[in-house]
Amino acid sequence: MATRCLYLDGVEGMKTLQCTTVMVNCRLKEPSHAPSPAAVPAVVYDVVLGSTVMYPQGGGQPSDNGILTISTNPPLVFNVTDVRSESGVVHHYGQFAAATADPLPEAGTPVEVSVDPRRRALNSALHSAGHLLDSCMRRIGCNLFPTKGYHFPPSPYVEYEGQIPAELKETIVQRLQEAVTDAIARNEPVAIRPVAPSDLQSICDAGLFAHGNPYASLPEVRVVTLAGAACPCGGTHVTHVGDLKQVCPPWPFGGGTQGDMVVIEKVKAKGKNIRVSYALPTFAA
Ligand SMILES: [Zn+2]
Repeated sequence: MATRCLYLDGVEGMKTLQCTTVMVNCRLKEPSHAPSPAAVPAVVYDVVLGSTVMYPQGGGQPSDNGILTISTNPPLVFNVTDVRSESGVVHHYGQFAAATADPLPEAGTPVEVSVDPRRRALNSALHSAGHLLDSCMRRIGCNLFPTKGYHFPPSPYVEYEGQIPAELKETIVQRLQEAVTDAIARNEPVAIRPVAPSDLQSICDAGLFAHGNPYASLPEVRVVTLAGAACPCGGTHVTHVGDLKQVCPPWPFGGGTQGDMVVIEKVKAKGKNIRVSYALPTFAA
């Protein structure tokens, strides 16, 4: 049974960092799923829940981390260090805070899910900054086909099909930076809504579908509109473009410091593509 992903429920769902749900399954993680042996402790558990607020890695965005509080007697605390989605089922990977959990919690046990707010804030800001960069590319007249968004710290980028003459690269970085700074100052709200696949081409930039509509068979598609650019996206975002100037941590946790905004770092050729790199410098500190 698919996990209900609460972060997909519009802007409100995206802002929700805690939920109460039930255990569906808790088991030892199969070794073949280990992403990198060096980083993975010997024993990793795989927890599936009825619903979750935790974002599984995908769409160029890293997974959330966080804590599950499981209402066994006595209660168990489970530290989630990785979240993945397979065929609509979200797997929370991690370890119990106590040395043992024997027996493992049963199906139906109530579970409180809490997302690590700082990591979510960073991942949301990095993802939104990638969308902002893309919107500004179009605004300055670079209507290239986007092939990849990589919103991972510390070196995020967006890639496009095609080339840009070497002598124009510096100018493009400069013009992009001006457009980004201008959009942050305008502080438009980010909108999220479900769209019928047949309406995508009229709502989003038509150039996004230069190679066809890969969403045609879906019942509906989640569309994120940020700084005037609408595109299909399953990620988490800031709620206003201006949130990108409030960092450490930004939206919605308050108490942040104002720092450098989104910095466009460079445009460089990457095979048949160009890669536009960006940074949120205060986060990197
Ligand atoms: Zn996205």
